[in-house]
Amino acid sequence: MLESLALWLLLPLGIALGIALGRNPRSVLSDSEMLAGLTLAQDNPDRAIAALTKAIERDPAAAELNLTLGALFRKRGEIDRALRLHENVLAQPELKPDTRALALYELGQDCVKAGLLDRAEEVLKKAAQHPAFDALAYEQLLPIHEQIGDWQQATQVAERLESLKGQSYATVRAHYLLELADECRQRDDAVQAIKLALRALDTDAHCVRANLFLGHVYESTQSWEESLAAYARVPAQDARFLSEVIPAVERVCIANQQPQALHDFLDHLEEHHGLDSAVWLARAQLIGDGNAQAKYLADKLAQKPSWRGLIQFLSLPPAQEAGVLSAPVQSFRDALTKLLQRRPHYLCAHCGFTPSLLFWRCPSCKQWGTVAPAEDSL
Ligand SMILES: [Zn+2]
Repeated sequence: MLESLALWLLLPLGIALGIALGRNPRSVLSDSEMLAGLTLAQDNPDRAIAALTKAIERDPAAAELNLTLGALFRKRGEIDRALRLHENVLAQPELKPDTRALALYELGQDCVKAGLLDRAEEVLKKAAQHPAFDALAYEQLLPIHEQIGDWQQATQVAERLESLKGQSYATVRAHYLLELADECRQRDDAVQAIKLALRALDTDAHCVRANLFLGHVYESTQSWEESLAAYARVPAQDARFLSEVIPAVERVCIANQQPQALHDFLDHLEEHHGLDSAVWLARAQLIGDGNAQAKYLADKLAQKPSWRGLIQFLSLPPAQEAGVLSAPVQSFRDALTKLLQRRPHYLCAHCGFTPSLLFWRCPSCKQWGTVAPAEDSL
């Protein structure tokens, strides 16, 4: 459908170019003329705009020509002119339904670019009523609902896109449910927050955020067993989040005075993720004797060097037999610690952005669930 749409959008441009070249506009365009139109629009939008403007002077009411010219103005950043042209087309009486839907779709994109989100939502919803534009219009509507935080509508649009395009939107739908759950949590409605988070987990069984959220809400209501159960599901979902979930489990075990539960959890992790620094760093914290801890860390670092392991090692007090460190050695140690602490903490697998906080929607590429703790190995 996109191909036919692209062709349709090019057709008026080809006609305009035909007029500009002195040909009969009503003649059927050859493939080479169509290709010339496309190339000109892409390579030299200024010439394409000039040709279209000339054509419109002869036929000011030609809706398709105005729509194409408006799209070119938008592409060039002249949003006001694009808006005016597309509004003028829509004001024409007796527009064909296809043309009207295209005009609404184009105007919707202008409004998005201009930041007029309410107007964009209104016209794109109208464009979505035409079967040739429904999926395209819904794709434009989805980020608008996300931007204004209307998670109910975002969910409905994602469901529509799922059926129209035949592809899964489960990942984003789970995050929308968790956004709603988070609103409930902020209103101290833990019961509804938990219901929504469980629905998110049903929607997307791989959703790490759902289990971290459930663990946190159960923790806040002192439902320790449920909290531990939710946190314990995370390592099997995505081992990159061990560094997030282990401190949470430590916190619950301390609050609930269950030191054995923490040992059991770490034992289980060691079986499957023994070389992960998050696991052996948690183990190291449980070693009371400083010298024994240093030896344990040195052994683990030798097996698999890690940033966090190195920082932990450098933060240990000097061994008894070494006495006090000399000033230059201490300075070197402090400088190295600072440098290591400035390494990326999180990484977006989609665009490579390295935020210092965990975002469920990447601030750079706007993808959901693509940011995770950065690799800790050296
Ligand atoms: Zn990203």
